[in-house]
Amino acid sequence: MEQTDLRGLPFEKLEAEMRARGLPAFRARQVFSWLHQKRAEDFSEMTDLPKAVREQLSAHYHLAKVSIERKLVSAKDGTVKYLYALEDGEHVEGVRMAYQRGGSLCISTQCGCRMGCTFCASTLTGLSRSLTASEMLMEVYLAAKDAEASGEKVASIVLMGIGEPLDNFDNVMDFLSLVTSGEGFNMGMRHISLSTCGLVDQIDKLAEKKLQLTLSVSLHAPNDDIRRRTMPVARRWPMEELMRACRHYFDVTGRRISFEYALIDGVNDSPEHAAELIRLLKGTGSHVNLIPVNRVAETGYRRSKRERVDAFCGLLKEGGVNATVRRELGSDINAACGQLRRSVMDPAAANAGPEGLLNTGDSVDSGS
Ligand code: SAH
Repeated sequence: MEQTDLRGLPFEKLEAEMRARGLPAFRARQVFSWLHQKRAEDFSEMTDLPKAVREQLSAHYHLAKVSIERKLVSAKDGTVKYLYALEDGEHVEGVRMAYQRGGSLCISTQCGCRMGCTFCASTLTGLSRSLTASEMLMEVYLAAKDAEASGEKVASIVLMGIGEPLDNFDNVMDFLSLVTSGEGFNMGMRHISLSTCGLVDQIDKLAEKKLQLTLSVSLHAPNDDIRRRTMPVARRWPMEELMRACRHYFDVTGRRISFEYALIDGVNDSPEHAAELIRLLKGTGSHVNLIPVNRVAETGYRRSKRERVDAFCGLLKEGGVNATVRRELGSDINAACGQLRRSVMDPAAANAGPEGLLNTGDSVDSGS
């Protein structure tokens, strides 16, 4: 039988486990603090527990092992990209933007993805499996440790790496409750963003949780026709239903939705598309993040030219829709999200060439 991973248990469940093993409540608090405040990776590190207790715990429980297998540092702006290795040989990616709002970390929620967006590298080989709450916590804890080593920190978290967070709903909810725990990592829920391709039923379910996190919706199209061509999820839930769910989310949580819109040359970047988008979003108070699409060799899409991006942004603003063009960070280590993982799965397949990959500990000269 598979052993329970103690790191993924909310405190009450951890306490119940300890009690069932005949351990007093204060042991549960000790273990929780070791796992989530001191970020212990193994029971042997929990030195203020009697040796017998440590042995008892390691005989009966698991702690997911995650390591940073590779680390790339942008010479331009200090952005750090991590390739995390999981114990079953899977890999996921994280990105730490050192100077973004005091240090922002983007983590993955699944190994691969089954959403099939046509512009995205993460979905090209489908979904292998979802990450556990414990594994997502380790993405954060390892990056935080790495940040602290250079006097930096992780002040906000975005669930915008590989995978669809709402396709891994329960584990993501456990992750959110643990990473925001006052007895643990203590991240403020308002400093967390969750990005979804638009699973309407799950957005409704999330709304009921009434969390203070920011919901980002990957829109990428101003109408159903274009959205269905680029995002299979739109065939299941038309724009109208998605917008209904977004309004409901805002009504219930009081949190405004932010929309992601990747500009693809000749696909969704014309002035007419901007006008359609304005009709769709005007009056919602939402913010639109415009992103010149990242090139993924397999997709054949090209990013819109800079002038077109700026023009699109200008039109939205004139039309009364809040919009900004996302600043590009780490363009020299880029490999659009999902490509670093792919380069390990099949080195010939991804255009993140091996020359870009460094071993842990190495870093590109920051030139500063
Ligand atoms: N599955 C979630 C979160 C992961 S993707 C979602 O769809 O939102 C994170 C963001 O990157 C999404 O907005 C996604 O649409 C976008 N994205 C994927 N491939 C991209 C590319 N090639 N260029 C620009 N953005 C891309």
